[in-house]
Amino acid sequence: MIEKQTCPNCKGTNVSEIMYGLPSQEFLEELKKDENKEKYQLGGCCISDDDPAFSCNDCGYMFGLRRHYEDYDDDN
Ligand SMILES: [Zn+2]
Repeated sequence: MIEKQTCPNCKGTNVSEIMYGLPSQEFLEELKKDENKEKYQLGGCCISDDDPAFSCNDCGYMFGLRRHYEDYDDDN
Protein backbone atom coordinates (compact mmCIF):
# COMPACT_ATOMS: atom_id res chain seq x y z
CA MET A 1 0.00 0.00 0.00
CA ILE A 2 1.15 3.49 -0.74
CA GLU A 3 1.23 5.84 2.18
CA LYS A 4 -0.91 8.95 1.83
CA GLN A 5 1.33 11.86 1.02
CA THR A 6 0.83 15.44 2.12
CA CYS A 7 1.87 18.36 -0.04
CA PRO A 8 4.51 20.43 1.78
CA ASN A 9 3.34 23.50 -0.09
CA CYS A 10 -0.41 23.61 0.51
CA LYS A 11 -0.76 20.75 3.04
CA GLY A 12 -3.26 19.10 0.74
CA THR A 13 -3.54 15.34 0.51
CA ASN A 14 -4.67 15.26 -3.11
CA VAL A 15 -1.28 14.02 -4.23
CA SER A 16 -0.31 11.82 -7.17
CA GLU A 17 2.62 9.51 -7.26
CA ILE A 18 4.67 10.14 -10.37
CA MET A 19 5.42 7.02 -12.36
CA TYR A 20 8.54 6.94 -14.48
CA GLY A 21 9.52 4.82 -17.38
CA LEU A 22 7.25 3.06 -19.82
CA PRO A 23 3.99 2.09 -18.15
CA SER A 24 2.68 -1.40 -18.71
CA GLN A 25 -0.62 -1.99 -20.46
CA GLU A 26 -2.00 -3.23 -17.18
CA PHE A 27 -1.02 -0.01 -15.48
CA LEU A 28 -2.61 2.09 -18.21
CA GLU A 29 -5.85 0.21 -17.70
CA GLU A 30 -5.66 0.96 -13.99
CA LEU A 31 -5.12 4.63 -14.76
CA LYS A 32 -8.38 4.79 -16.69
CA LYS A 33 -10.37 3.97 -13.60
CA ASP A 34 -11.88 6.97 -11.90
CA GLU A 35 -10.54 6.04 -8.50
CA ASN A 36 -6.99 6.05 -9.82
CA LYS A 37 -7.12 9.21 -11.89
CA GLU A 38 -5.66 11.43 -9.24
CA LYS A 39 -3.36 8.89 -7.70
CA TYR A 40 -0.77 8.65 -10.42
CA GLN A 41 0.87 10.86 -12.93
CA LEU A 42 3.13 9.75 -15.73
CA GLY A 43 6.59 11.25 -15.48
CA GLY A 44 7.80 10.05 -18.85
CA CYS A 45 10.88 8.11 -19.75
CA CYS A 46 13.46 10.78 -19.08
CA ILE A 47 14.79 9.83 -15.70
CA SER A 48 17.40 11.85 -13.89
CA ASP A 49 18.80 11.64 -10.40
CA ASP A 50 16.55 14.25 -8.90
CA ASP A 51 13.09 13.61 -10.28
CA PRO A 52 10.28 14.40 -7.88
CA ALA A 53 8.35 11.41 -6.61
CA PHE A 54 5.03 13.15 -6.00
CA SER A 55 2.93 15.86 -7.56
CA CYS A 56 0.19 17.83 -5.83
CA ASN A 57 -3.10 17.89 -7.71
CA ASP A 58 -4.20 21.02 -5.92
CA CYS A 59 -1.29 23.41 -6.41
CA GLY A 60 0.94 21.52 -8.82
CA TYR A 61 3.87 21.44 -6.45
CA MET A 62 6.27 18.55 -7.02
CA PHE A 63 8.21 17.11 -4.15
CA GLY A 64 10.04 14.12 -2.79
CA LEU A 65 12.89 12.34 -4.46
CA ARG A 66 12.08 9.30 -6.50
CA ARG A 67 15.45 7.69 -5.84
CA HIS A 68 14.73 7.65 -2.14
CA TYR A 69 12.01 5.15 -2.86
CA GLU A 70 13.59 2.99 -5.51
CA ASP A 71 17.22 3.06 -4.49
CA TYR A 72 16.72 2.99 -0.82
CA ASP A 73 19.69 0.74 -0.16
CA ASP A 74 22.96 2.42 0.52
CA ASP A 75 25.24 1.33 -2.29
CA ASN A 76 28.48 2.32 -0.67
ZN1 LIG B 1 -0.18 21.39 -2.94
